[in-house]
Amino acid sequence: MKAGKKMEKARVQLLLDNPFFGHLASYLELKDDESLDNPIGTDHKKIYFNPKMIENLDESKVKSCIAHGILHTALGHQWRRESRSEETWNSATDIAINWILKESGFELPPKLRLRSDFKNKSAEEIYSEITLEEKKNQKGSEKNSDKKKRQKKRFR
Ligand SMILES: [Zn+2]
Repeated sequence: MKAGKKMEKARVQLLLDNPFFGHLASYLELKDDESLDNPIGTDHKKIYFNPKMIENLDESKVKSCIAHGILHTALGHQWRRESRSEETWNSATDIAINWILKESGFELPPKLRLRSDFKNKSAEEIYSEITLEEKKNQKGSEKNSDKKKRQKKRFR
């Protein structure tokens, strides 16, 4: 099936299976974009899809991807980022969304592992925790490099 048709079909299926998500998705125009590095992306006006990637997914996964995309919009993630780092914010919002999808019975990629301590947390809470962990890890590696420096000195 052509990607455009598949997207439309998955969106109708979403409306039938999960009216809340399907209703939101019906407001956004579907547009193909071969340059996309994900199956689906959104600028909150349109849902962009990578036709080649969509053609390789089964319908239930396409449905999950659409729901994922529109949840960024529905939860206002683009307005809630404020001065947070974009990369970490994206990861935090993805985790928050994927938990919602999992709890709503959507099929998620088999390789995707969701940390149970992030369940029922907002993107802001997840962001703070990830940032704290990153800082701790950085300090850890700084300590290690200090140690290395000291060792080098000692053996000079
Ligand atoms: Zn996402």
